[in-house]
Amino acid sequence: MPQWKFTRSGFTAVIFSLCLAWIFRYLSFVRKIILSTPLLVTGIAILSVCCSPVAPIRGGNDRAIEWANRNGGASSSGSGGASMGTLVRQINLKQDMVRAGTCGRRVVRRMNPRYITIHSTQNYSADAWKHSLALKRGALRAPKRPGGNRIGYLIWHFTVDDKVALQHMPTNEQGEHADFNGPGNNYSIGIEMCEHRGSNLSATMDRTAKLAAYLMVKNGIPLRNVVPHYHWPRRGAHPPNKNCPHFLMDNGRPGRKWNAFLGKINYYYARMRG
Ligand SMILES: [Zn+2]
Repeated sequence: MPQWKFTRSGFTAVIFSLCLAWIFRYLSFVRKIILSTPLLVTGIAILSVCCSPVAPIRGGNDRAIEWANRNGGASSSGSGGASMGTLVRQINLKQDMVRAGTCGRRVVRRMNPRYITIHSTQNYSADAWKHSLALKRGALRAPKRPGGNRIGYLIWHFTVDDKVALQHMPTNEQGEHADFNGPGNNYSIGIEMCEHRGSNLSATMDRTAKLAAYLMVKNGIPLRNVVPHYHWPRRGAHPPNKNCPHFLMDNGRPGRKWNAFLGKINYYYARMRG
């Protein structure tokens, strides 16, 4: 029986064949890679485009913020907290209080504020500082009578003009600005808007809207409780509902202009709440 003998040349031939097979396989693998490279590159490019963060379209993604900036309003950056700080600073709120126990604060009636009442001064010669001085000097008198003015003085909480908002009394004290002994005085914070000659009424209204929004946040007052002086009938007065603030009334009563003003307050309120 013949026996297989493993010769040197046979061994070399086997090794050579194995090497050739490996080289061919390797070449085939390399060829596959080379052929598929453009496909891989395209895939990676598509993925990188799809997954990269999309930058906001400048000026187009927040019309409300654009509006605020156009109107000298809020900063367009930052969180709700930053907006609150920015907006409150823009009110430029200062305290110039009537001394406790004097003039309009001679009698203190405690108040838990539930409303905000908006007025206009109808005084065409005095800014906020002049009104504040008049309040501190007791120059704004009103006839004291049963069912009417309770202390003989007029007083309210804030006066706003195109440059500043001044506070005259704490918001937990009742003023004398709306409806004598009615709910307007008993439960509302009074804000007077100046309208003196040469002042920028639009800036005054904007500042007032920010102040009202701030007081809403601070005291938990809803927008439906922000009312014009008109809202509070005055017993014994003719007409009982005053055309005030007159430049925000339509034909002497709340309408389109008042609703637009409420929209402005609500906008700032939303910004402050973040
Ligand atoms: Zn009024």
